[in-house]
Amino acid sequence: MFGIVEGQTVNRVLKKLGLDQEVTFERYDPKGFDHMRMEGYSLDIPSDPEELIQRLSALFPEHSDRFRRFVNEVEKTGEGLKRLSPPVKPIELLKHAGEAVCAVQYLNSTLQDVFDKFQLPQAAQTLIALQWADFLLPPNQLSFYAWVILFRGYQAGAFYPTQHFESVINSLVKVIESNGGKVLLNHEVTNFKVTDSTVTGVEAMNLLTHQTDEFTGETVICNIDPKKAAKMIGLSKFSKKVRQKLDYEYSPSNYMVYCVVKDLDMRDYGFGNWNLFHSGHEDLNESFAQMYDRHDFSNPSFAITTPTLLTDASRDCPEDCQIVEFLTVANYGYFQKLLEGDRKAYNKKKQEIFDSILDVVEKHYVPNFREHMVFHVTGSPTTNERFCWCPNGNSYGSSLTPRNMGLGRLNHETSLNHFYFCNASSGYPGFAPTFWTGTLLYQRLSGDVLLGV
Ligand SMILES: Cc1cc2nc3c(=O)[nH]c(=O)nc-3n(C[C@H](O)[C@H](O)[C@H](O)COP(=O)(O)OP(=O)(O)OC[C@H]3O[C@@H](n4cnc5c(N)ncnc54)[C@H](O)[C@@H]3O)c2cc1C
Repeated sequence: MFGIVEGQTVNRVLKKLGLDQEVTFERYDPKGFDHMRMEGYSLDIPSDPEELIQRLSALFPEHSDRFRRFVNEVEKTGEGLKRLSPPVKPIELLKHAGEAVCAVQYLNSTLQDVFDKFQLPQAAQTLIALQWADFLLPPNQLSFYAWVILFRGYQAGAFYPTQHFESVINSLVKVIESNGGKVLLNHEVTNFKVTDSTVTGVEAMNLLTHQTDEFTGETVICNIDPKKAAKMIGLSKFSKKVRQKLDYEYSPSNYMVYCVVKDLDMRDYGFGNWNLFHSGHEDLNESFAQMYDRHDFSNPSFAITTPTLLTDASRDCPEDCQIVEFLTVANYGYFQKLLEGDRKAYNKKKQEIFDSILDVVEKHYVPNFREHMVFHVTGSPTTNERFCWCPNGNSYGSSLTPRNMGLGRLNHETSLNHFYFCNASSGYPGFAPTFWTGTLLYQRLSGDVLLGV
């Protein structure tokens, strides 16, 4: 995650809540927070853009100028986007007009468009874009804006919570409860109470007792996927403009594995406080199509993360064990059909993908990984939908394409009275962007300025 450094969004919110001393973070290795690995090539992404140019130039000496121009353009676009993001500060925008103009020209661009513009060699494109699993989109579909925001965000500082993610959530819940609020788990919103164009509350069912209760409020903030919520309310109740913005396609779903290995120190095999991304293919667009469109995982691209190496804090994990996670893309429609039609085939496909990933791991990274694996659990797109209640098992809300990242992007406005969206699809996905989305709405509703005007 990013946005943690002093003065950035997450830090400001934690300070406001009095949690900045309690909720702390560990930085990924700034010399290489993402380790990109592909047959014949390896590139560790550093925080410093100049160092990135040097490393790329060392791999592809004849293209040094192109890398410099590309990286400079990424920097300029990133600075422009900062000034163009709400809340817009006109004086800042004027001071950085050049950067803003640079950013605007890429409104409809994919990352691939920009790779092509700067004529980067194919292998370099793959190395630069190998964190595709952070978006679940390949370069030819991914919004250049989305890529720039995340890439530069991580360059400025990639972090992991010292006491792991769960403790961050527990701390936030403690603040809510100690201020008289309540967090009701196991409650499903089954209906919204709407009078004319005003939302006054919801009906929610306690999933343990099956009792339905009504909850009312002066303001109703909806964290459920906006399209799903709007359908529950009735799309016709929303203005034409909001209906258009709600017409987004979902981001692709994913395939996850959580493993525990015993008596194996992943640090001995090149793992540490960074993420590792593997590609078996030199063209990520083709690799993505193979997995997502053709469900062929024989030569997979995937991410590996080792949370127990990101912080020294102990976890419910024995001393002699480490946690290893794998992530790649998977097609929701395909898995849903398998699950509905043939449970055995569904299980077989899940296992097939896992085996394929493990074969790569044992061949390229950790021989005998399987021998040390004492626990694993796999999650398919339908698992994702069941656990997270995310429509189509989507990973990041609306898909991070130029169309969805453009001017028609949904925000908190719903066109109904006293009713606001607050979700990845009405803001941005990820830990820090989720803080940003919520804080911006808080600021607008309360007038208490946290992010500046
Ligand atoms: C596999 C995976 C790994 C990720 N890893 C990272 C990471 O390492 N770092 C990072 O920054 N981001 C990561 N993300 C992205 C991040 O998790 C999301 O962007 C973020 O959770 C979005 O927050 P949200 O509040 O918009 O939506 P959600 O977190 O999806 O919250 C929506 C909530 O609404 C609830 N809901 C839905 N319907 C109802 C209903 N009818 N009644 C009541 N409640 C309902 C759901 O249960 C859910 O809790 C990851 C995402 C995935 C899928």
